[in-house]
Formats: sequence, C-alpha cells, structure tokens
Amino acid sequence: MDYIQGDSREQTVLFPECLDDYVGEDNPVRLIDAFVDRLDMQWLGFRFAILPETGRPPYNPLDLLKLYIYGYFYHVRSSRNLMREARRNIEVMWLMKRVQPDFHSISRFRKRNKRPLQRVFREFTKCLKGLGLIGGETVAIDGSKFKASNALNRSYNAKIVSREIQKIDQQIARYFKELSQTDKAEKDMPEDDRVIDIEAKLKQLDQEVQGLDIAMSDQQDNEEETNETKSSERRLIELKKRRDLLQKIAVMVEESADGQVCLTDPDARRMKGSRNHLVGYNAQIAVDAKNSLIAHLEVTQARADSRQLSRMAIRTKEIVGAGKLTVLADRGYFSNEEILACHRADIMTLVPKQEHSTSRKRGQFTKADFTYTPEEDVYLCPANEKLKLVNTSKPQKWKYYQSIKACKRCAIKNLCCPSVFRRIGRYIHEEVIEKAAADLKKQPQAMIMRKKHVEHPFGFLKQSLGMREFLSRGLDNVGAEMSLAGLSFNLKRAIKLLGVRTLISAMA
Ligand code: SF4
Repeated sequence: MDYIQGDSREQTVLFPECLDDYVGEDNPVRLIDAFVDRLDMQWLGFRFAILPETGRPPYNPLDLLKLYIYGYFYHVRSSRNLMREARRNIEVMWLMKRVQPDFHSISRFRKRNKRPLQRVFREFTKCLKGLGLIGGETVAIDGSKFKASNALNRSYNAKIVSREIQKIDQQIARYFKELSQTDKAEKDMPEDDRVIDIEAKLKQLDQEVQGLDIAMSDQQDNEEETNETKSSERRLIELKKRRDLLQKIAVMVEESADGQVCLTDPDARRMKGSRNHLVGYNAQIAVDAKNSLIAHLEVTQARADSRQLSRMAIRTKEIVGAGKLTVLADRGYFSNEEILACHRADIMTLVPKQEHSTSRKRGQFTKADFTYTPEEDVYLCPANEKLKLVNTSKPQKWKYYQSIKACKRCAIKNLCCPSVFRRIGRYIHEEVIEKAAADLKKQPQAMIMRKKHVEHPFGFLKQSLGMREFLSRGLDNVGAEMSLAGLSFNLKRAIKLLGVRTLISAMA
C-alpha cells in the first residue's frame, strides 16, 4: 500500500498534451472566451481595436478584456495579481493564448477603456435578454455605498475645515503663550495685554520661518541650541504649513458644487454608510425579478437614494427594451417628483412612502385621516368639516387646504393639531402618488420580493468578491470596476441557470 503517486517531473510523453486539454468543456473560462470574441471592440470604443500602422504592437484589447473578466470572476482584481495569474494560471494561459502582459499594461487598459468596459456589461445584459434570462417586466432597485480610495481624514467640508483651523489656532496660541511666559521682557506686563492675536503672530511667524529655515540648514554649527527647542520650532512650522493648506482647502470647499472636497479621489463623496460615515460612492443596481440578474447598474456620487429612482428605472427600461416596467424600491427612494417621472415614462412604481409625521405616535390624526373630494377640490376632515384650497406654493408644487373657522370651534381639536388650525398640503400631482400607493397596497408581497432579488447581488459583490472598496479613483474608473463586478455576478448566475455549454451554443 502506498500513497497515490503523481507523474515524474522528468517524464516525457510520446503525444504531448496541448493547452486545450487542461481546460474542460464546462470551464467558465470557455464562456468568457466565447462572449468576448463575439464583441465588436471597435463599436464599443476600445483603444487599439483598430491596429495603428506604425509603432510598437499593442496588446490585443480582446485578450486584456478576457483577463479582466476572468479576474473579477475569480476575485482577482488588482493588476499585479492579474499579471501573476497570467504567468502561473493554466486557465489564464489558455484564455490569453500565453500572452503575459505586465501590470502596467493591465492597469493602463482599465484606465484607458473606462466607458467601453461599462458598455461590455450592457452587451452581456442584452445577450441575457436575448436568451430569455432577463424578463424585463419587474425590476428591484437598490443602492449600496462602497468605499473610495480616499481616507476619511482626507475629506473636508466647511465644518471640518473650520474645526481643524480652530484646533491649530489653539495649538499655536498655546505655543506663543508658553513663549511669552518665558520671555523675561513680558514679565512686568499686565496679564490682559497678553491676549494672542493669531493672525498677527502668524505673519510674524512667516518671517521667522524664513529665517529659521536658513538657521536650520546651518543647525549643526549651533551647538548651544537644544534638541527640544528645534523640535518645537519644527512643530510650529508644521502647524503653520497645515494651516495654510487648510485655508486653501476652505477656498476649494467654498467653490465646490456640494460643499465638500476629497483630496485623494476628488470624485468621491463623504456619505453615511450602513454603520458610520465613509468616503465613497453610491452604487445603484436594478435587478430583474425573473432570475435575479442585474439588468442595469450605475455608480453615483449621490449621498442618498431619493433622487435615483426615475433615472435608474428609465435607463433599465431602455436597456431591457420593456414596453411596461414595474419597479420595486424601498422607502429611501420615495419622492413625489421621482414617482411622477416614472409615471410619465409608463413605469409602475411600488415604493412605500416615507413617514415623517409623528402625529400617529402622539395619538393624533394624520393626513391619511383626511379624505380628498376631487369634485369639490376640498378635504373632508375627521370632524366632517370641509377644508378649502387657500393657496399654492411657488413654483406650483403644493396646494394647501384649511378652515380656520371650523378648527376654532372643533370639539376634537386636541386630537388634530396643537396650533390654531390644521393645514393639509397636497402635491400638485397627488393623484399619481395616490395611484402608486393603491398599486402597492394591492401587492403586499412586493417588499419581500424586492429584498429577495436585490440584496443577493450586493451580498455577492461585498462578501464573495471582497469588493468593499474600489481600487481605482474617479467616477468613470469606479464605474468600470463596478461593471466588471456586475458582469462577473451575471456570468455566475447565468452559468448556474443554463450551464456553460448551453450558453456558448446559444451565443454562437
Ligand atoms: S381641528 Fe380642524 S381640521 Fe382638525 S378635525 Fe377639527 S375641524 Fe377638522
């Protein structure tokens, strides 16, 4: 009895095996190869899709695209790791026909083909639609925050900048105070005269710093100067430099459109994550309800989801070519304007309303207890009084209804409003919102369905793919990363549904 033995390393064979023998018929790498080979790289806009007539031959964008898709499929995302795979992984050798690019070329490919990579994801979606895997009738939309390549302490808004400047001012003031305490000349001065004027002291420091720089270059000669003095002076220079930088950032913050600045990745935004604040991007996905495949994805800078619904829904409808589309989203997406935009695009929205009012908790009537009568354009209140239209907001978005007279003599006023009278606001297209609410009421399982379809892809991207943060910087670059990740999710899901061989033959 012995262990199972392998072949000798020196063994030669009469009929040498070829690379293709090592890649099984059901290997996903064959599907990646078949899918990429059918793409029109020139139409997608890949660089070097048309060979230049002169210069050094470039790598074929088909090969590099295959490498990236393979990498994201098997959770290898960095260009250095992809380079390593191309040198040691037999599947990658098969896929790339033994082309072994260096990490610079791999990384450059992603940077130069941001938009085309996003189009590749859409091409695969269309392919899935053609295969009948995407139904295009109902989609669930959701968003999740992904960390950007930017540390939290390198992002600023006006509040942070002024807090930091204040902190530095305090440190500088403390330093000068210590100096003045040791200054014999100030010994006899009254205490009140020693108030520190930071701006004046900093001007003085500017002059001192110049002198100090010269002195420090000559510091070896100054043997009497103690190490302690030198370090405190250096510290002061650092504080001064930091204050100057913060003042420049304050100007940038003021000039920025949304009042914040990120130094490492200028496109990233400081936003609230599931647990705490992060600097990142808000990735939005629309998952088709037929087979839980991602129909559309986008990376945005939006800090909240409330303005994302109509854009995502309309774009998804265009991509999947649906005549009628139903969209499921959580209450974070609720917005009158967004629901109205979807309605105008012939998209049914099933989105629960955000409950801001605390009236119900306090045991008081809410707007739901008031009945609108369209024939008379009045609200009937719980005391059976008519609240009439009194004014309309500008721009005309809201109409307001009230009856001061009725409220003054009302017997149940304590259950209705703490103020003199109750005013009811009505959105100018409230009938659309009411219809959406009625549609949602008819489908009590809608939110369970939403959760079932949309949370799995994000779970896969974050847990299985380990994609908690983006490796690249800039909105287009992270969009390309997300597209590759979404494509790998869809590939896995499609393989699970139909298998590699069926998919390849269907694509042929
Ligand atoms: S307080 Fe005014 S609005 Fe409220 S129930 Fe009484 S009459 Fe109606």
